[in-house]
Amino acid sequence: MSLAGKTAVVTGSNSGIGLGVAHELARAGADVVINSFTDRPEDHALAAEIAAEHGVNVRYIQADMSDGAACRALIAAAGACDILVNNAGIQHVAAIEEFPIDKWNAILAINLSSAFHTTAAALPLMRAKGWGRVVNVASAHGLTASPYKSAYVAAKHGVVGFSKVTALETAGQGITCNAVCPGYVLTPLVEAQIPDQMKKHGMDRETVIKEVMLERQPSRQFATTAQIGGTVAFLCSAAADQITGTTISVDGGWTAL
Ligand code: NAD
Repeated sequence: MSLAGKTAVVTGSNSGIGLGVAHELARAGADVVINSFTDRPEDHALAAEIAAEHGVNVRYIQADMSDGAACRALIAAAGACDILVNNAGIQHVAAIEEFPIDKWNAILAINLSSAFHTTAAALPLMRAKGWGRVVNVASAHGLTASPYKSAYVAAKHGVVGFSKVTALETAGQGITCNAVCPGYVLTPLVEAQIPDQMKKHGMDRETVIKEVMLERQPSRQFATTAQIGGTVAFLCSAAADQITGTTISVDGGWTAL
């Protein structure tokens, strides 16, 4: 598969899954725009690193995905957007009656509304070329629920619904839209929680991962950021031309339970 000549915009991609997606799309030959809300020298250095590793063009564009106008400005600044990966996301855990209103609003804005704004800005560019891919990084929590994650679960179910509408409005136009639904993925953030969990439960690394952290993931194995990136790259391939309006779970069997 070659994505040479395509430009991909990946939101929230200076770490974790977004960074893994950026690497896999660059490996497939796409030029990539990586993004976050910060504007540090290391963000631009990261873009240069990915470019050097894969021999493609990579730019870092700062834009805060909690701000609708900034989401639209990101696509305008990218100049081209053949592949749009809506990945930026945050989490907060609290009971509904104690859920801070500002956290609810931020999660809905970053995890759900940002996809509406970037998609609205990107579709005209894709239609002009008669080709496009929108891949929304949802979650197993886009298909199932857990207590204390009301905003996240609501936003991710919203992302799955929004992906279906995007697919219907673009059907037959060379454009597809799908949602990837990861289970637990080994990101630096998750890796950083392992020592605390080991201490809290008095377990070794392997046991705490299998028995506590991956309790709902039947494979008892994390997915990797490269596997999520590879799934996104597959959805951008010609083999996926007729895959649209659906979800692909990468969750070690979580949603089969
Ligand atoms: P992460 O914290 O490593 O990455 C989140 C990214 O979003 C970062 O690059 C961060 O800078 C960016 N971001 C946060 N707020 C932003 C804002 N206002 N504007 C622009 N960028 C912003 O976490 P991750 O685990 O890689 O999560 C990426 C996506 O994958 C999220 O949508 C998350 O819900 C989803 N997801 C993660 C897992 C998991 O197990 N890690 C599982 C399912 C779904």
